[in-house]
Amino acid sequence: MKINKNFDVVVIGAGAAGLMCAIEAGKRNKKVLIIEHSSKIAEKIRISGGGRCNFTNINSNSENFLSNNKHFCKSAFSKYTQNDFIDLVKKHKIKFHEKKLGQLFCDNSAKDIIEMLITECEIQKVEIILNTEIKSIIREENLYILETEKKVKFICSSLVIATGGLSIPKIGASDFGYKIANQFNLKVTNLYPALVPLTFKDDILEFCKSLAGVSIEASVKINKTIFNEGLIFTHRGISGPSILQISSYWKPDRSIEVNLLPKNSMDKTLKERRVKTPKQNISNVLSDFLPSKLAMAITSLLNINQKIGDASNSTLNQISNFINKLNVLPTGTEGYKTAEVTLGGIDTNEINSATMECKKYSGLYFIGEVIDVTGHLGGHNFQWAWSSGYVAGQNV
Ligand SMILES: Cc1cc2nc3c(=O)[nH]c(=O)nc-3n(C[C@H](O)[C@H](O)[C@H](O)COP(=O)(O)OP(=O)(O)OC[C@H]3O[C@@H](n4cnc5c(N)ncnc54)[C@H](O)[C@@H]3O)c2cc1C
Repeated sequence: MKINKNFDVVVIGAGAAGLMCAIEAGKRNKKVLIIEHSSKIAEKIRISGGGRCNFTNINSNSENFLSNNKHFCKSAFSKYTQNDFIDLVKKHKIKFHEKKLGQLFCDNSAKDIIEMLITECEIQKVEIILNTEIKSIIREENLYILETEKKVKFICSSLVIATGGLSIPKIGASDFGYKIANQFNLKVTNLYPALVPLTFKDDILEFCKSLAGVSIEASVKINKTIFNEGLIFTHRGISGPSILQISSYWKPDRSIEVNLLPKNSMDKTLKERRVKTPKQNISNVLSDFLPSKLAMAITSLLNINQKIGDASNSTLNQISNFINKLNVLPTGTEGYKTAEVTLGGIDTNEINSATMECKKYSGLYFIGEVIDVTGHLGGHNFQWAWSSGYVAGQNV
């Protein structure tokens, strides 16, 4: 038996952007359906921010985003700001706090944000169906006809693709959005896992493994892009906020400059200590500035075991360069299995930034992470999902 169902708007993907778009379209009295292929909605919100969802950033602006067109996101951010989302969170009496650098987290749980979005969907009578895979999409006379695996047909005048990126496939990520873009001959930029730990081999891998769990405040740099945040050694390489941030700028065969002690010029410090504490072993001197496990690992890797008073200028330079200007060449990243986002996506040239509608096909919209707009770590990616979802919701 064939069933046809008509809606004004069908949103594919019940994530942050899709839910926001559906709520806003519902406020405009549109008949809205969200189709989700997983058994649960908003799984990424649930696992985000260590379970507390870093839902926005007080300082979010276009400078926090990577895209082939850095200006593309500005229009959406001007129409729906972080303060608009904060007002919604306050309206639902969700308690939150600023952790650092403007990052806002729920006090209690990310589930508070999901509950809030579900409540808003219910108020606007948005229908949500789960466990539903779309088999085909056809465009006919300005209508979109979607057919599911079970041969149910949904017909709508506005179709919104909100299926996100490729990261964490085990909780529902798919390449659906990019495939639809291909079907409609829309350009997709190169895709890379981003906000992702970096991996190493040989000596540096052994060095990292021996320090697994040790964390420091570091500065990491590629060309002129620098991040000063936490760094943690792991069994596979290095991670932590500074590394996740720089991973979005990293490409294969490119090295990264790491400063393990950005607040201290070790060349000067070590030369002073050679005069002040000549009898101290070098690794003990380094332990005054770095975790002692790291200090020991550095001297062991450099094969230096002597009192600082006996060290030559070249030995001290070797140590200070390692600490302040360590050039490391990652072999890769941990990939989409652990990446927080996908860098790249639907080419912004294909989309009207004021509406999120596809320029070539009226009624077809793309929102959220599936577009080539990728935020830094710190709540920016959700803000893009809220803002782009809001804008599409005003125009579908
Ligand atoms: C571990 C982790 C932690 C994160 N923490 C934060 C954070 O604290 N702050 C922050 O700003 N960002 C964070 N992010 C990034 C953020 O989660 C995403 O950028 C954001 O969820 C993107 O929203 P979206 O709606 O575009 O896509 P998503 O939230 O990924 O939603 C896409 C939805 O589409 C569904 N879908 C996919 N394919 C299909 C299909 N074929 N048919 C139907 N449905 C489909 C998916 O199941 C999903 O429900 C984190 C990401 C990860 C992986």
